[in-house]
Amino acid sequence: MSTSVPSPSFAPAAGPRVGFLGLGAIGNPMAARLVPRFPLVVWNRTAARATDFAARHQISALATPREVAQRSDVLVTCVPNSAEVEALLDGPDGLLAGLAPGTLLIDCTSGSPAGSRRIAHRLTAVGAQFADAPVSGGTKGAEAGTLTIMVGADPGVFARALPVLDAMGKRIVHMGPIGSGDAMKAVNQVLLAVHLLAIGEGLAALTKMGVSPAKALEVLNGSTGRSMVSEVHVPERVLTGLWPRTFRAALLDKDVEIARGLFEELGLQAPVAELAATLMHHARQTLGEEADHVEVIRLIEEQAGVEIRG
Ligand code: NDP
Repeated sequence: MSTSVPSPSFAPAAGPRVGFLGLGAIGNPMAARLVPRFPLVVWNRTAARATDFAARHQISALATPREVAQRSDVLVTCVPNSAEVEALLDGPDGLLAGLAPGTLLIDCTSGSPAGSRRIAHRLTAVGAQFADAPVSGGTKGAEAGTLTIMVGADPGVFARALPVLDAMGKRIVHMGPIGSGDAMKAVNQVLLAVHLLAIGEGLAALTKMGVSPAKALEVLNGSTGRSMVSEVHVPERVLTGLWPRTFRAALLDKDVEIARGLFEELGLQAPVAELAATLMHHARQTLGEEADHVEVIRLIEEQAGVEIRG
């Protein structure tokens, strides 16, 4: 299924042919950053998302991962977890059925180190290359091309991936071997979960005492307890009562679980990550699969019987 052809006036800069798979909340704006720089084709499990994207950007949406692989030098994947990336490799319509030796797969999924090592092993066996390259910065950062991208790859593969990553991010850091990008992201996500949960509890208590949440934030943001959650998420999403849906709580639960598994694999005790995993798992079950991650604070509000607004 090829939905459109580039218009005569549309001429992306020459470069490696890129195929993007996974046009979700963050994949969509990331792929859009590639349009002016590379010849691009896209695929998405729900075809309508890919055909909409293709029509909007005057490029081609293809019917299968195999076809995307056949038409790409560099593949970019952005799906929920490593298991979904592994599944994309398989079957008669999978990536392995279409890719040529030398193809580079950059996985921007927030996946697991062990999963990325398995994927890299399978790609290496057919002469292809792999980098785990999870991102941070949210959908706004993706739109602006200012994502932080943490990369696990051989140094030569990192150098090859850089021009494509550069179109989507601002701070692109080679963390080390395959899996280290995923490990970095998982650690970041534990901190995100902890900040959300802890500030929710603290602001609920202060609000219940009659302290203005706006004043409490003003103090926190000039003190040692501040974080991106206190500086951006809470003022923009909680105090306003807007609760926009940009990053699902289910995905944060998945991330914290990846971190928990990493600590276990390394034989390390991590009671904070354990507790964050338990609380995020409960939040996912209560809020459902579509709720935003910041809505864990809504649960805390409900338990405390207060609304953190101002
Ligand atoms: P979404 O849930 O919005 O989108 C998920 C994407 O993966 C969709 O394109 C979906 O296809 C596709 N998908 C889901 N399951 C499968 C499957 N079994 N096979 C093939 N494709 C599948 O997620 P996000 O875009 O928010 O997140 C993508 C990745 O990026 C995750 O790892 C997430 O943790 C990470 N991330 C997200 C951020 C954000 O702000 N949203 C920030 C940083 C990282 P379909 O359209 O058919 O559902």
